[in-house]
Amino acid sequence: MHSIFYDRAKDADHAIRLASEPGAKFIGGGTNLLDLYKSGVEKPLRLVDISRLALADIDALADGGVRIGALASNSAAANHPLLRQRYPLLAEALLSGASPQLRNMATVGGNLLQRTRCYYFTDPAFAQCNKRAPGSGCAAKDGFNRIHAILGASEQCIAVNPSDMGIALTALDAVIQTKGPQGERRIPIGEFYRLPGDTPQYDTNLAQGELITAVDLPPSPFGGHSHYLKVRDRASYAFALVSVAAALDLHDGVVRDARIVLGGVAHKPWRAVDAESVLTGKPLTDDSLHTAAAAAVAGARPCRHNQFKIELAQRAVVRALRIAGEKA
Ligand SMILES: Cc1cc2nc3c(=O)[nH]c(=O)nc-3n(C[C@H](O)[C@H](O)[C@H](O)COP(=O)(O)OP(=O)(O)OC[C@H]3O[C@@H](n4cnc5c(N)ncnc54)[C@H](O)[C@@H]3O)c2cc1C
Repeated sequence: MHSIFYDRAKDADHAIRLASEPGAKFIGGGTNLLDLYKSGVEKPLRLVDISRLALADIDALADGGVRIGALASNSAAANHPLLRQRYPLLAEALLSGASPQLRNMATVGGNLLQRTRCYYFTDPAFAQCNKRAPGSGCAAKDGFNRIHAILGASEQCIAVNPSDMGIALTALDAVIQTKGPQGERRIPIGEFYRLPGDTPQYDTNLAQGELITAVDLPPSPFGGHSHYLKVRDRASYAFALVSVAAALDLHDGVVRDARIVLGGVAHKPWRAVDAESVLTGKPLTDDSLHTAAAAAVAGARPCRHNQFKIELAQRAVVRALRIAGEKA
């Protein structure tokens, strides 16, 4: 029997104090942490319940951006008029994830920190998983690796990040606000997640006891021309095999700026910077779209069972950009 201390935090400082000791974990909606606890993957010593903290507001910022409280539910964020109007890409990504019931429980902070769905990570019956048990090996490398990474993986880990929301937030240049034992930080989302390297047990650059308090979205030039495309085995209630957040700043049919971020292909949301450069200053033509798509997967190294993701990702990039470009 594994016993846990449970504390309901009174405010953010209280939560941080309680969670600063090793083995302590925040719990938001609990939709990921409790699953992993029940299956024996996560073994927290202390659960710090943050669900009642006053961090659920969604507000306009003076610069034209929006601040989303870390405890806003995925449903509240997806349906909020400010977000739907200014960042439809985010609403599309959120609504493509999980189910209505789960989205009602899941929080923005918890969504960012949900853990990989690699079968070998989520099932402790497999002894080898460097993410779960550092130094034990990676069963996925020689196992059934259909859902795994084709970009940025390491010898230690080929898992992918499962969040749809994180892919859209990366395209929107979100900034993660945190408060921890060392004070407050504003972390651009591009510096928030890590590649696995030799330390796949760490998904992000957060410290022990560091609480996500909010996510800030800067004013976006991509409002009108954006699209989140999710390719999966079932039409709903399934994680992405490949997804693409495509966002375009179009002027007279020419791309002034672009964001192309891939999901389901790497340990973190994979921003395809070279593909964005290919499009910048050009109209969307068959040629520019296919050249950008090829650039998006340059350097891909598939495993035995996921070679198909290379072509799938390219097709998804072309389609997502086309749809984004055609939106009014
Ligand atoms: C059946 C099923 C299908 C799903 N399908 C999808 C899908 O298609 N796409 C998708 O993107 N997601 C999907 N999900 C995942 C779901 O989105 C996540 O479980 C959810 O977003 C996690 O949020 P939560 O608040 O419940 O997190 P919790 O389970 O409470 O926490 C998750 C992690 O985040 C940490 N944490 C939580 N809040 C904070 C905070 N404010 N600061 C610091 N740390 C924090 C916790 O300590 C924990 O480690 C699915 C889940 C299920 C169960």
